[in-house]
This record gives sequence, C-alpha cells and structure tokens, in this order.
Amino acid sequence: MVDVLIIGAGPAGLTAAIYACRAEKSTLVLEAKSYGGQIINTPDIANYPVAPNISGFEFATTLYNQAKDLGAEIKFEKAVSIDDGEIKTVHTTKNTYEAKTVILATGAENRKLGVADEDKLVGKGVSYCATCDGNFFRKKDVAVAGGGNTAVEDALYLADLANTVYLIHRRDTFRADAALVSRLKARENVKLVLNSNVTKLVSDVRLQAVEVTDKNTGEVTVLPVQGLFVAVGQVPENENFKALVDLDAGGYAVAGEDCKTKTAGIFVAGDNRVKDVRQLVTAAADGAVAATEAIKYLNN
Ligand code: NAP
Repeated sequence: MVDVLIIGAGPAGLTAAIYACRAEKSTLVLEAKSYGGQIINTPDIANYPVAPNISGFEFATTLYNQAKDLGAEIKFEKAVSIDDGEIKTVHTTKNTYEAKTVILATGAENRKLGVADEDKLVGKGVSYCATCDGNFFRKKDVAVAGGGNTAVEDALYLADLANTVYLIHRRDTFRADAALVSRLKARENVKLVLNSNVTKLVSDVRLQAVEVTDKNTGEVTVLPVQGLFVAVGQVPENENFKALVDLDAGGYAVAGEDCKTKTAGIFVAGDNRVKDVRQLVTAAADGAVAATEAIKYLNN
C-alpha cells in the first residue's frame, strides 16, 4: 500500500513524485515506456526557466534521479486499469498495487498521419522521433510533417544532418513559436511545403518518396525522400481510466487547475489534462499541484 501512486514518469509525474516524497508520503511511480515522457526526445530545451539550452535527455535524467534520490520507487510497468474505492487498486500488465491516492500523469502518444502504409513503414523510413532516428538519414533527403514546435524543432535538428529537409504543413501559418520558425526559414537546406497534406507514401521495401497534395490547388507533387518524420501532435493516453475520469471530445481528462478529477483521490497532471498550454513548465506545475492536492486529501 502506498500513499501516492503516480502513473507516468514524465515531467508531470516525476515532479509530483518529488512533491509527494518531500511531504514524506510513500510514492510509487509506474511507467509503461521509458522515463522522461516526450521531452526526452527534444534535442534542445530553450524555454524552461533557469535551464537554457539543456537537452531533453539531460533534463529527464536529472529529474528521474532527483525523484529517485528523494525516495520515489519507480517501476517500469504499464498500468491498465484502476478499481476505485477508499483504497484504489491499480492493475498493471504484471502486478496489482494498492494506493490511497492516484495521480494520472500518462501524457500523450504520437498522433499518426493516417496515410496508407504508415504503420508498415515505421523503421523503414517513417519515424516519430527525429533525435532517435535522424542519424540514419545523414546526407539524405527527408521530410517532416507538422507545423507545431515538435515539427519545427525536428526540421531544425535534421537540417544539420540531412541533405534537404522538406517541412510539410497543412496550413501556411505555424503553431510553433515564432522564434523557431524564423530560425527554420533561415536554413538554406529547408524547403517549406505549405497548405499541403501527405497523401501517399511511395515505397518498395523502404520509403522512396512522399506524395503531397496542395489543399488549395489540388496539385500533386512527389518529393523524393528516404525519411518521413511525423510530428503532427499527440493523442492523450486516458482511455484505460475513462470510467473514473471524464474525458473531453479530444480524449483529455477533465480537471481544473486543482487537477482534481470527478473521482475522490484521483488526480490528473500534465499533457493528458484539459488545458490551453501544454509545455514542460506547465507539466511540471501540474505535477506540483496534483501532488499537493493528493497530500491534502491524505492529511484530511
Ligand atoms: P501541436 O502543437 O499540437 O502541433 C501539431 C501540428 O500538427 C499542428 O501544426 C497541426 O496542424 C498538425 N497536425 C495535426 N494533425 C494533423 C494531421 N492529421 N495531418 C497533418 N497535420 C496535422 O503538437 P507538437 O508540435 O507535438 O507540440 C505539442 C505540445 O508540446 C505543444 O504545446 C508544444 O508547444 C509543446 N512543445 C514544446 C517544445 C518546446 O517548448 N521546446 C517542443 C516541442 C513541443 P494545425 O496547426 O493546422 O492544427
């Protein structure tokens, strides 16, 4: 039996663990994949206070060690369901745990483009992680799909490695920070393909090219690329817990700034919560708030 069971070892979950441990509550963190969440794949974090130009890996590893050093137990198991009651029973694919409170900090997973053969070509030219796979495309031509911070950061990262980088975006304005977009536009080997969607992946065994269709003119262009990096946002990972937590139309867990869900003793923190700004700093803030609310719940 633990006081606080946290599902997810990203910035929100690990920050919650730090707060729970510092309140001397027994704390277990369950993580389905690797620690760090999405930020671990970010090459360069430039907007986190007091830590300019830290890599995502260094940030995540420091945070992970900080939580562990304070006493958090971290297990790599996927939580698949929760039975509610005064004591919550959390089932993973391997074990069952009991907890007085639960914080859902499950974050989000990569959204697929939804184009034919996308799944089949993962590892054969299609990737969702530029920092993981970019090296395979040294001096080759690649494309990035998306118009948010991830897509623009990926394109900047790949521009240092690849020959030509096409950034394919479905609109002509970007969701990404203006400063990043300016840096991207200054790169000579980056070509912007705007108002366009990827409509076909051309392959034999591996990706050979992507076909893009201009949304306004219908014109179809074939870009001869060996790699396609998909960076079109995330889908929140709340499905397993929807019996206990209301979800909005996008699948995000409904909770206010106090991170409380409709179920007493269950809190939600980070990118899987309904919110306007999904950033590292707001994920960490959620972790602090959710843990503080869990501690109050325990002390009452
Ligand atoms: P995002 O901001 O949600 O952007 C997703 C992009 O993909 C949007 O441009 C969207 O187009 C496009 N898109 C969505 N579905 C699509 C589809 N089916 N086909 C084609 N394009 C599609 O996602 P993100 O870039 O992964 O960022 C997620 C969050 O993390 C954001 O809050 C971001 O600011 C944050 N983040 C921050 C940093 C940093 O601060 N260093 C780095 C990475 C991410 P539309 O614009 O037309 O909707």
